[in-house]
Amino acid sequence: MTSSHSPSAPGFTAPAKKQLGQHFLADRSYIDKIVLAVNPKDDDRLVEIGPGQGAITLPLLRRHPRLTVIEFDRDLIAPLTAAAEPLGELTIVHRDVLQVDFTPLAGDGQIRLVGNLPYNISSPILFHAMEHAAVIRDMHFMLQKEVVDRMAADPGSKVYGRLSVMLQAWCKVTSLFVVPPGAFRPPPKVDSAVVRLVPRDPATVGILDRKRFAEVVRSAFGQRRKTLRNALNGVVTTEQFEAAGVRSDARAEQLEVAQFIALANVPRAESA
Ligand code: SAM
Repeated sequence: MTSSHSPSAPGFTAPAKKQLGQHFLADRSYIDKIVLAVNPKDDDRLVEIGPGQGAITLPLLRRHPRLTVIEFDRDLIAPLTAAAEPLGELTIVHRDVLQVDFTPLAGDGQIRLVGNLPYNISSPILFHAMEHAAVIRDMHFMLQKEVVDRMAADPGSKVYGRLSVMLQAWCKVTSLFVVPPGAFRPPPKVDSAVVRLVPRDPATVGILDRKRFAEVVRSAFGQRRKTLRNALNGVVTTEQFEAAGVRSDARAEQLEVAQFIALANVPRAESA
């Protein structure tokens, strides 16, 4: 197969690197849908993760005067700079996104994150973003559809799990639309979907200790078919279940996000 794009695809062409999760968006109609979903306003601080060959970057720059992008692939930096030059002000951060602190990018405001993410590291990127939720106004990400389904799942669903609870605790999660493999070059093996995440006001989230919350959620879903009493043995005591008003004979997949927060917030008993 050649690396040529469909005639309508923006950007330039470079061979895709599998190890960097490179599947370049090549269908103009889905690019337009993403730009429409982001709907940038003049004073927004837009930050794109993984601009690649500019499929989303260049149309965004046509709508918005400046953009910061974070790209790990050195080979893409020069052509991206050249392609963006006539359109607007592009700042390229040449780093692994997992090493980037988003706080300085936000200045005294908040950033809006966009990205067709490298699927091999999409969960670490999501967790990294959650750590910076206070400086993020919203996120529009393309991910594997299966991951988006897990992110947006409700209690009782088969795919409701650790990712659903950890993300929904901090953000409102909305699945927007599905994108088929044929929209990419090279095509991935699976369907993709675009998701919108809007961080909640940290003051209203109500998690007292992030590490403790993460521990309770991880342990509960570590053995999701067991009752919580068994799955959380050694992590949550009978007294703590009672104090949180959570039934210990329930299973993790039945618990609302607020119940996980209540369970994690109960103080540990003083040791004698
Ligand atoms: N946005 C482009 C598009 O839609 O055609 C490219 C998307 S491609 C799925 C993912 C992009 O993320 C690639 O450009 C890849 O080089 C970049 N990438 C992969 N790992 C990265 C990392 N750790 N940090 C920053 N960028 C990364």
